[in-house]
Amino acid sequence: MRFCSIGSGSKGNGTLVQHDETIVLIDDGFSLKDMEFRLAQKGLTPLQLTAILVTHEHGDHIKGVGPLARKFRIPVYVSHGTAQHEGLGKIPSLKIIDSHEAFTIGSLKITPVVVPHDAREPTQFVISNGEFKFGILTDLGSFTPHIISQYQSCHGLMLETNHDEKMLSYGPYPPKLKVRVAGNLGHLNNSQAGEFLKHVDCEKLQHVVATHISGQNNSVELAVDSICSSLKCEADFVVVADQATGFDWLEIK
Ligand SMILES: [Zn+2]
Ligand SMILES: [Zn+2]
Repeated sequence: MRFCSIGSGSKGNGTLVQHDETIVLIDDGFSLKDMEFRLAQKGLTPLQLTAILVTHEHGDHIKGVGPLARKFRIPVYVSHGTAQHEGLGKIPSLKIIDSHEAFTIGSLKITPVVVPHDAREPTQFVISNGEFKFGILTDLGSFTPHIISQYQSCHGLMLETNHDEKMLSYGPYPPKLKVRVAGNLGHLNNSQAGEFLKHVDCEKLQHVVATHISGQNNSVELAVDSICSSLKCEADFVVVADQATGFDWLEIK
């Protein structure tokens, strides 16, 4: 089982998870042309994608989903709430998921996890091939007991480290946006991400990725630091997902 990102941040997100022939793309915040280029950089073509999972309807996650799904006739899995958003357009094969119920795509078991974020029915995902467990957890303003229970004992984890509290509060964002980002339905800051890691069993963790890092209100060093101080690991253990290229395939074995 392996995973990679094709880009992470407020200008567009996309994550790939593969086991055998099953390849799922989580979110697509890129134009069709850009997405084809980014997939090629990871050695894939759109025709190899088994399915697209959508976490929520914000543009940085949904922008490219419709065009990609229509051109290559890829099934799209979304929650009932996300499906109500006009940004998806007409999808040839739209699967509405129950956001409290696990389902299967090829050889992968997908467990949606409802998160507090300012969208209609946002879900993040825990994905397993029966042997290993991968979790992606971004775009949430706070974590809940339910989230903590779902992300125990992951082998691979992509965790939001969106902003540094001080950089956000002294930074250039308008006051209203600062309140939104820092709020319980906004984005996880570095210390919340560090705190989250203290609540989950990280014994089996082979890869941890700092994800959805703000270009204006954070630095890679601060994001990595907060993960390291919780995991008591060296900085080079933490992979960074960036906006330009994401990060390369990481194998869970
Ligand atoms: Zn986002
Ligand atoms: Zn969002």
